[in-house]
Amino acid sequence: MSPTAPNTEQLEVELGDRSYPILIGNNLINTAGSHIAPRLKGRKVIVVSDENVAPLWLPTFLKSFDEFDLDVHSLTLPATETTKSFSHFERLLNDVLALEIDRKTTLVALGGGVIGDIVGFAAAVLLRGIDFIQVPTTLLSQVDSSVGGKTGINTSYGKNLVGAFHQPQLVLADTSALATLPNRELLAGYAEVVKYGLIDDFEFYEWCENNAKLLINGDQNAQRYAVLKSCQSKARIVAADERELGQRALLNLGHTFGHAFEAETGYGNKLLHGEAVSIGCINAFQLSAKLGLCEQQELIRVEKHFLQIGLRNSLSGLADESWTVERLIGHMAKDKKAEAGKITFILARGIGKSFVANDVSTDAVKDVLAQTLTDAKS
Ligand code: NAD
Ligand code: ZN
Repeated sequence: MSPTAPNTEQLEVELGDRSYPILIGNNLINTAGSHIAPRLKGRKVIVVSDENVAPLWLPTFLKSFDEFDLDVHSLTLPATETTKSFSHFERLLNDVLALEIDRKTTLVALGGGVIGDIVGFAAAVLLRGIDFIQVPTTLLSQVDSSVGGKTGINTSYGKNLVGAFHQPQLVLADTSALATLPNRELLAGYAEVVKYGLIDDFEFYEWCENNAKLLINGDQNAQRYAVLKSCQSKARIVAADERELGQRALLNLGHTFGHAFEAETGYGNKLLHGEAVSIGCINAFQLSAKLGLCEQQELIRVEKHFLQIGLRNSLSGLADESWTVERLIGHMAKDKKAEAGKITFILARGIGKSFVANDVSTDAVKDVLAQTLTDAKS
């Protein structure tokens, strides 16, 4: 690997012989070749991107391979969540196979979480598993989806229901890419950043309160620090529980509620994943306060920060008369993380003090949802 440039951070996801480094910094896409070439088993590299990212970042990425004697190909997929489907997956597998790959071929995912998930899954199953590298270009994918090895696609029965655990060989998180990301996407990604503070890192939560504005306004140092801290948190939790048998569930703070809202809105542009998580984190603190687990003051502090930074904190404009508490509870019970209909929640005893709870009173959950719906409709 080329020496780490100034302003580049490196950390390792420790998973025995499946360990891999994450590089975080600016200008990593225009030096991608020098980071990727030394890690390749063979000469063939296939980079997969989406229709928004390709015009912005693919030429820079490809140019960085000019000085290496490699066989580099590119493919472009549509830029929507619906790309994570059986039909696009089949087409992707065929397009990659048409390039006459062998077991030493490496796939590269250049894009957000959609590209990372589908390309990672393709790498998991092609020739029973080939190498892949993540070059995440959204804040959400840099702090969350590119790390941890979860890959997959959606089905008509729900999101991410078909997939595999397949760890990448390398993650290159280039914060320069965030400069072209729409502000709404940046904010949605920030919800996953602040989540790490809320889970188990009060100090980082305080950093977020003081620096989130800088981060959102494009400050490279703030972005690099936030991505580093988030990846460290995720790497630590994943290393302890790769297959989500226990503590990895903490990463789902705000997600039990969030997934229900996403299911109700149809996983589209109406409500982005990070926006759903943002509302869900508030709900998780409301539920914790209602159950007497956490001080009201802590909830108010989180609500205030989310409001100041412009995170979505309510369902206003989305929830109409068709939204009911029963439907939302129904979505939660169907979530793949619900066991035998029992819904798992991540609750908090305060900021940075989250825990997994399997025996939450359904009445309390219904109260929180009812209030959220009333607020949205008023
Ligand atoms: P995304 O991949 O759809 O990207 C969001 C939008 O930003 C897209 O329109 C994309 O084309 C565009 N874009 C990406 N990078 C850009 C850039 N640098 N400049 C301009 N536009 C850019 O969405 P996402 O939020 O990155 O990821 C969401 C997906 O990630 C969901 O499918 C979710 O299920 C998945 N996810 C997976 C994991 C995991 O552990 N595998 C974790 C969280 C989320
Ligand atoms: Zn998430």
